[in-house]
Amino acid sequence: MEHNTGISKNILDHIGNTPLIQLNKITKNLPGNFYAKYEGFNPGHSMKDRIALHIIEEAERQGLLKEGSTIIETTSGNTGFSMALVSIIKGYKCILAVSSKASAGKINMLKAMGAKVYVCPAHVKADDPRSYYEVAKKLHAETANSLYINQYFNKLNIDAHYNSTGPEIWKQTNGEITHLVAASGTGGTISGVSKYLKEQNPKIKTLGVDAFGSILKKFHETGEFDKNEIYPYRIEGLGKNLIPTATNFDVIDVFEKVTDEAAAHRARELAITEGLFTGYTSGAIIQATIQYAEQGMFDENSKVVLVLPDHGSRYMEKIYSDEWMKEQGFFDSQKQAHKEVEFIK
Ligand code: PMP
Repeated sequence: MEHNTGISKNILDHIGNTPLIQLNKITKNLPGNFYAKYEGFNPGHSMKDRIALHIIEEAERQGLLKEGSTIIETTSGNTGFSMALVSIIKGYKCILAVSSKASAGKINMLKAMGAKVYVCPAHVKADDPRSYYEVAKKLHAETANSLYINQYFNKLNIDAHYNSTGPEIWKQTNGEITHLVAASGTGGTISGVSKYLKEQNPKIKTLGVDAFGSILKKFHETGEFDKNEIYPYRIEGLGKNLIPTATNFDVIDVFEKVTDEAAAHRARELAITEGLFTGYTSGAIIQATIQYAEQGMFDENSKVVLVLPDHGSRYMEKIYSDEWMKEQGFFDSQKQAHKEVEFIK
């Protein structure tokens, strides 16, 4: 059948072209207009579909992959799921080395998408042969026709967003965007989108979102890698304890840090105010936007785009669990658990 009808060739046709949705309530007390680029609409439920598709297709163009080749990456998160998804359609094997910190639910999701999963001890040094970095490197060395994605140090991660997310936002806002707010983990999203947008209009400001416990903000401001900035935090996917080469710090104007607690509550608020069911980092991005507004970053004419990285369904045992929120002490202050569930006995 010709594919000029309403039929798509396969699921990969639906990667990208995510909606840009006006925020109406959660930002109503802030000056300016706010729009969410809702990446949970991708078939793999996150923006990592874009890098999976781009990196794998680039490797194909370079002749690095053949039928039956193996894709290798080190993540239990969104990137793993997206790599597995793209591998299914393109006929590659997918191996993921993950930390034993990953929940059983996450490992099951990757297995459901046909990936072979190696669970590696979390509390060993990165250079320990049992660490997921070392396991992935070894598997790559031992597996013929394998491609190690290495998203933190792969510049194609930036290009994926330069080629797709950036141009989409420019078009969807008719070139009127004034500020971009995005999280930074590998830095691929913020670097690629920002580079594209600033090439169109250098006046656009790029506002990064970082976590307390991460070195990115201080490194950006001072050029110093300060180990004292590093301590554990709960938000998964943003901030870092190393400097990824997939981050282009030159196209980021400023970083703001947010707390685990505020980010968790903002994600929950985003669901019940806008109907946008998103992940933990989306809550962090909303919280950072509010902090930026409090600093006077925006005025009535501002058109601010927030890139919301993923869907909320991956966080049912975390921020959308009242028990988890309670365990973290996140209900200790004024905020209370939802009371909408009543059990009839
Ligand atoms: N949010 C989530 C949920 C993520 O998984 C990631 C990726 N680590 C990010 C934000 C940050 O995106 P990037 O890696 O492109 O900086």
